Amino acid sequence: MIFRIIEKTELKELVDVMAVNRIIGPVQKGTGLDGKPLYAFGPVADFNDLKLDYTTTARPAKRYFLPSHETLCNFKIHENGWEKSVDFNIHEPHVFFGLHACDINALHKLDKVLLKSSFPTPYYAAKRMNMFIIGIECKPQPFCFCRSMGTDSALHGFDMFLTDLGDKYFVEVQSAAAFNFLKNINTSDPKEKDHARYMEVVAEKNRKFTATVDTTDLAKILDMEFQSDVWKYWGDKCLSCGTCASVCPTCYCYGVEESVDIDLKGAVKKKHLYSCNLIDFAEVAGGHNFRPESHTRLKYRYYHKHRGFAEEFEESLCVGCGRCSEACLAKIKVPEVIASIRSGVKPRGR
Ligand code: SF4
Ligand code: SF4
Repeated sequence: MIFRIIEKTELKELVDVMAVNRIIGPVQKGTGLDGKPLYAFGPVADFNDLKLDYTTTARPAKRYFLPSHETLCNFKIHENGWEKSVDFNIHEPHVFFGLHACDINALHKLDKVLLKSSFPTPYYAAKRMNMFIIGIECKPQPFCFCRSMGTDSALHGFDMFLTDLGDKYFVEVQSAAAFNFLKNINTSDPKEKDHARYMEVVAEKNRKFTATVDTTDLAKILDMEFQSDVWKYWGDKCLSCGTCASVCPTCYCYGVEESVDIDLKGAVKKKHLYSCNLIDFAEVAGGHNFRPESHTRLKYRYYHKHRGFAEEFEESLCVGCGRCSEACLAKIKVPEVIASIRSGVKPRGR
């Protein structure tokens, strides 16, 4: 790792240097009912659109490397047989400018399944390999419990990581490509006072976390509480809308649909991301549904995140970003669900 200092006045220059590639970053998309800005990841056409001091985004940047809908292959049928064409939908290189540590850690988790497993997904790999990642230190929100999940800082998986020291950024450089980009702008070696300020900023950030999840032996607790009636309590509230999965940076479950042209001369196979909370998620041919009740589906989501994935990879498939809790119309919040399962007590007044 190499450390550099960039004055804030130099940041536009850095963005301009990066702009030979498509830049995706946090941009403001209007304001909420409370008057606060709403942010989303989107193309950054102008330096002034890049909001590096954003709080969080309602949706992750997932659609750029794991789109909700994707064509897997096309078939053409003609007199002499048929041909299949596969397009991995490789994007031109994208610079992701301003990912928080939780979203960088979400990519690590997706990589474990979609890139580094026995059966990697070429459609994901094609886009993942074309990513240049610039992280930025976050501002913890009341619903963030990433500190409990060990994902509040990113140790690897980025090209550079910026920490706001006031009038300058402390930069952790982790790739030769990033080092070479930085040669185009004015940077300096951090001084002792910069390192000290960096430590202060990180300590200040850590003090701002308020939401917590007790993850001690969580996979074993889930094993023991599989039959808990607390699952039914939460499941009865669930609307089975699937929103939690669509805003989750680590949910990757999907369905595949094949359709044939009406003239039987062509066919297409498409993939779409799906949610295990949707009513037909576990329905099989013949119409049998292995999880017809909402509480069994809700439970499955928690078991995949905190037990099944943990058994395989020794870590949870949740980065504690809190997006699902914020988006849920039924106000089902991960910290409350896990606390109630651990205690066996349903929350009062809900
Ligand atoms: S967002 Fe809430 S209501 Fe909708 S499926 Fe998820 S837990 Fe259920
Ligand atoms: S389960 Fe919820 S808190 Fe965990 S990573 Fe997904 S959206 Fe974030």
